[in-house]
Parts: sequence; structure tokens; C-alpha cells
Amino acid sequence: MFNLQQFVQELYAKRIEDCTNEELYYALLSLTQRFSGSLTTNTQKKKVYYISAEFLIGKLLSNNMINLGIYEDVKQQLADAGKDLIKIEDVELEPSLGNGGLGRLAACFLDSIATLGLNGDGVGLNYHFGLFQQLFEDNQQKAVPNAWITPESWLKPSKISYEVPFANFTLTSKLYDIDVPGYKTATKNRLRLFDLGSVDDNIIYDGIEFDKQDIFRNLTLFLYPDDSNREGELLRIFQQYFMVSNAAQLLIDEAIAKGSNLHDLADYAVVQINDTHPSLVIPELIRLLTERGINFDQAIEIVSSMTAYTNHTILAEALEKWPLNFLEEVVPHLVPIIKALDARVKEQYPDPALAIIDENERVHMAHMDMHYGFSVNGVAALHTDILKSSELKAFYDIYPEKFNNKTNGITFRRWLMHANPRLAKYLDELLGHGYHHEATELEGFIEFKGNADVKAKLEDIKRHNKRKLQAHLEATQGITINPDAIFDIQIKRMHEYKRQQMNVLYVIHKYLDIKSGNIPTTPITVFFGGKAAPAYTIAQDIIHLILALSQVIANDPAVAPHLQLVMVENYNVTAASFLIPAADISEQISLASKEASGTGNMKFMLNGALTLGTDDGANVEIHELVGDENIYIFGEDSQTVIDHYANGDYSARAFYERPAIKPLIDFIISEEVLHYGNEERLYRLHNELINKDWFMTLLDLEAYITTKETMFKDYEDRDAWLDKVIVNIAKAGFFSSDRTIADYNRDIWHLEPAQ
Ligand SMILES: *Cc1c(COP(=O)(O)O)cnc(C)c1O
Repeated sequence: MFNLQQFVQELYAKRIEDCTNEELYYALLSLTQRFSGSLTTNTQKKKVYYISAEFLIGKLLSNNMINLGIYEDVKQQLADAGKDLIKIEDVELEPSLGNGGLGRLAACFLDSIATLGLNGDGVGLNYHFGLFQQLFEDNQQKAVPNAWITPESWLKPSKISYEVPFANFTLTSKLYDIDVPGYKTATKNRLRLFDLGSVDDNIIYDGIEFDKQDIFRNLTLFLYPDDSNREGELLRIFQQYFMVSNAAQLLIDEAIAKGSNLHDLADYAVVQINDTHPSLVIPELIRLLTERGINFDQAIEIVSSMTAYTNHTILAEALEKWPLNFLEEVVPHLVPIIKALDARVKEQYPDPALAIIDENERVHMAHMDMHYGFSVNGVAALHTDILKSSELKAFYDIYPEKFNNKTNGITFRRWLMHANPRLAKYLDELLGHGYHHEATELEGFIEFKGNADVKAKLEDIKRHNKRKLQAHLEATQGITINPDAIFDIQIKRMHEYKRQQMNVLYVIHKYLDIKSGNIPTTPITVFFGGKAAPAYTIAQDIIHLILALSQVIANDPAVAPHLQLVMVENYNVTAASFLIPAADISEQISLASKEASGTGNMKFMLNGALTLGTDDGANVEIHELVGDENIYIFGEDSQTVIDHYANGDYSARAFYERPAIKPLIDFIISEEVLHYGNEERLYRLHNELINKDWFMTLLDLEAYITTKETMFKDYEDRDAWLDKVIVNIAKAGFFSSDRTIADYNRDIWHLEPAQ
């Protein structure tokens, strides 16, 4: 217990009551920094370097206060002075240092690595604007820079700096650290973000457009600048090499400081390569070791025994293949190493599918990782099986011992304790605190199935969270929602494989159904949230359709009281923490085989929403854990889908001709929608769905509609529904990222926990 009043008094010479929320935010930032500053850093010999182009950490104030054990206390003392922590949190700007699930996973992992007392830092880039901020204008997405760095922030400048050599110049980096305190631990880890002093936001000229060739001034401005052209691709190689060269130099320095002679480097460091973006760390480490006197063969052996690769996707476009001449242009000193690595592979394995450099002179980053790392993992059981049996089969055949599965997880500190404090507190009352450290203890909640008091309390909590979301949307977007409605939520990056378009077709179905006189017993609000990559036209078209359709519905007095469609602007971690605890229905409707894992699905389950999903990614594991009665699964399975691709026998047009489907698709280009919409976008989307539909929306549309109708009907039996909710919460413990990280450590990293 400490005295916040006194702390604020010393800082500002006034009382909490008289401070603005802004002043209080900065007071709490400094207080939290002071607390985490007093934690020691982990000194274990071996350390994991989790290298990732993305860390979608979200706002840190409350999360860090929870981990430091001062959250409840601070919240109470603020409340006593008439101040609301939620309003104070509004002051903090969210760093958007990630795109979606992959980056959020990295952030959850840092929390769990620290909480388990393991020695491990995240290493990445300090993007000044991160991923763009999304605005809606004329029912379309507009991308603008997302500024987040303020004079006082979580970033702590360090004295560490490295020279990073490129073809025509050398850049000097500067390292910033963000403290990562574990949940009630004595030690902390760090997120280490490298930056470049010469970066200059004056080169941004329109939205997020800037001169892609001016590397001195643009290198760490944005996350994944548009790589749909040559300059964009080159810039990504610049970023990736800058990231991994810094990481490799840091790792070597730290190992030497602890007594390594470099021959034993693998006793000091293990590198987790999060997706292919950091893959150049392999040739870079080899280069640095040979520069320091180790011979080439030995360097390969050392590096191969300390690098592990995580695969996040089977979508071909996401497995990076850089043209060799691009690498020659940016990092010519790595090219002889990559060629030598490739030559060894070709000598041993003539199969061209295994080559690092293919016949078109493209460098397959994942292939390099699999040949020269010691571990390859997928991120959910189904995903790993698909990697082994089809996508990466050629590699599994030669390296079966390298392949392993690590089903993703989420940190319960952020996604339960912070996002849903009422539920967390109630679970504490019923179950004790054991589940804070051993999440599977949530299973004890099963005992309360059938308990009317517990169910009434769960209804209360859900209602409270809906009102919280209502206030948030009113304040941020001026949208009014009905807290008595069923909240049906799909929030994630916009992508055809995730099939937001299928959900929109359902909304059209429901709209037409209500117009024909079938009024739902409880009103329905369908929420979407998600950003679309600026170069991904169809995804932009889907956002446009959602926005136009929401106006059609809102302006139809016969339908509006029963159905509302909401597109949440700028979906990010903050928005997610308001939306997820308010959800009744969790939409996880990717085309089976395409979603590697998903982590949104886990957050919803933990917060008492029921899943409407395909048997894809981690949905499969959720399904197994909760059983058929407590989840709504529909659609073709992954093998059927894989066969359709192999046989090329899916025809969207054949489905379009069905009487249940045609009117829904054609409504996209109806007068009603065109009234609010843009003809070019709507016609393009309409045409795409009928003539291409690469991600097979129409294959599952009818099953989806039927299952969703069943779900709305089941919602009316509150007693039965809430029993399902209880089972879902009780079974969510498996998806704690503490479990995932314990698995990584047991099978891959082999670090000792802190004493
Ligand atoms: C969890 C999360 C994601 C990942 O969601 P999926 O549904 O698994 O794709 C993306 N963005 C944010 C902000 C998240 O919190």
C-alpha cells in the first residue's frame, strides 16, 4: 500500500482531485516506471531472443500496474478522489507496432516469458508510426499516420548503438528499451526496439505516402510499408536487415559479457524467428562469427544449434521470397553466405522444392530457416498437421525431428483481468487466485453449471460490459448502440480468407428476412472491426460494403429497431478490450485450413462468448475442449477444402445460381446499397464473389446462415445458453500463453527459470 495522494502532491503540488486526467496519466506513468525500475533483470546464463517485426503491445499503463500488483490499489485511490481510471487510460496513445494476431502473440509471449521468470527479451524496430491509423470517409477506409511517441513515454533510451552495413552506406542504430514486468515477479525483461536517429517524418506527404527510397529518413517510420512495388520490397529488406543485424550484434555482445568464447554461443543464446521477417539473422550471425575468427563450417553449426523458426501461415503470399538481385542491391555481403548455404542444400538434396534459391533466383526465407534452424513449429495442432502433411511435407520428410506444435495462447492479465475486471473479480471470489498462475484451475468453474445465482451474475457482468462498450463507441465514433441486443462480433484484419464477406451476406439475409416480416425476438447488433492493407483492393471493397449497408439498415425504420450493423473504426488492442468482454457471439469463420490458429477466438471464449466457427486453426482445439454442445461449428472441413484446391473443382458461379444465395449477392449492387455506395467498388466485389471467390465464401454460406439462426434461437433459452458460457470460460485455461511459453521452453529453448 502506498499513498498516491502523496506521490501526486510531490509531483504537482496539488491534490488528485484537482489534477486533469492528463496530469494523472503522466503521474501514473512515472509511478509505474519507478516500480518496474526497481525490479532486477534476469541474470540466467542462457537467454531467448524473440525477434519479431511486430509487437502489438497495446497501451501499457494498466497492464503494467496489474503485473506490478498496484492496479487495484491505484484504481481505488483514484475512485476515492472521484477519478475514473478508464478516462485516464484514454490519454495514453496506443503504439501500433503490429498488424494483427502475429504481433499480438509476440506481446502476449513477452508477458508470459517475464511471468514465468524466464530470461528473454523481445527484439524489433521502433516504428515511429507503426501500422496506419484507420479513418472512415465517404464509407471508405482512409489511412493516416498513427503517432504514438510522446516526450514522456515507456521508451527508455539506452547507450547501446551498432553500425549496420548496407551496400552503399553504414547506418548507426540507437536502442530504446521498454520494461516488461512479469505478473508479480521480482525480475523483469525488456522489449528492445532499434531505431535510426536520422528518420524524419517530414518526408510523409499524403496520408501514409512517403519517399520509399530515402532510407536515411524513412527506415523506421512505418511498419510494413506497402510492398506492392519494387521500392516497397527493397525498403522491407532494409528494415529486416537493420533489425536482425542489431539483434545479432546485441546477442553476441551480451554473451561475451557473460563469458562466452563464441564457440559456446548456443549455451548463452537461443533465437526464436517469429515468422520469416527475421530470417536474415541466420546468415548475419554466420557472417559476424566468421568475422570474429570462427571458420565457416563451425559458424554454420553454431548458428544452426541456436535458431528456431515459427511458421504462422500457409498462405503462399505470406512466405517471403526475396529476389536475389534485391538482396545484392541492399546487403551484398550476405549474398555469398546465402549462396553457400544453398549450395550445401542442393548438394545433399537435389529436389528443387527444398532449395533456398529457386530457379527464378528467388530466396525462400522459410527454407533457409528450416535447413539451418533446429526447430520448426506451427501454431495450432491442425496447422502443424497441415504443414507436415502438405505445405512443408518435403521438409518434414527430411527433418521430422525438427517439427513440433505450439498452440498459441493469450495473456490472461490483459484479456481477463484488465479487459473484464468484473468477471476476473467474480472468478477470484468463486475459485480463489490459483488460476492467476495456473490457468487450467479455471476448470473449477464447471462446478457452477446449473447454478442460477452464478448465471444471473454472468448476465449482470455481460450487461455491464455492453454498457461500457456503448459509452466507448458513443465517445469515439458517435455511434449509439442498444445494450439489450445480442452482440455478434467479428474483429480481425480484413482478409478474404477470414470471410468477413460471408458475415455481410448473412446480414443481408437477415435484413431481407426482417423486411419480409420475420422479426427477431431479441434485437441483433453485428459488429465488424479491422484494417485492410492499403494495397488490398477487395478488402477495401468489403469495408465499403459494410459501411454502406450499415446506412441502408439504419435508415430503414422497419428494420433498424431489430438489426444494427456497426463497423468499428481503427480496430486495435484498445478497441478489442472493449469489444470482446461485451460479446455474445464470437465469429471465427475462416475457410477451413486457412487460419493457422487465431487468438481472437481464445479471447472471446475466456470472456464468455460462444464461438460460431469452422473447424479451423485453434477452433478445432476449442471444439475438442468444450464439446459439440458448447460451440457452433459449420462448414466444410480442411481436407475437403484442400481437395477442392487440388482438384480445382470449386465453382462460385454454381453456388451463386442457387435460389437461397443469388438474391443476397445481387443485393450488393441493389439500388438501396448503391444509394450509399460507390459503384466501382460494389460491382467489383459482386463480380469477384461470382466469378472468382478464391476463399470459397459461397461453399459454406448456407450452412453458416442455418447455424447462425440456430444460435439466435438458442440465445433465447438463457439458462441453457449460460451453461454453455460457463463451460467455455472453464475450459479456456489451456489457452493461457503461460502454457504456450512453458511448452516453448520445455521443447525448444531449455532456459532455467529464475531462482
Ligand atoms: C487478438 C488480436 C488480433 C488477432 O485476432 P484473430 O481473430 O486471431 O485474427 C488482431 N488484432 C488485435 C488488435 C488483437 O487484439
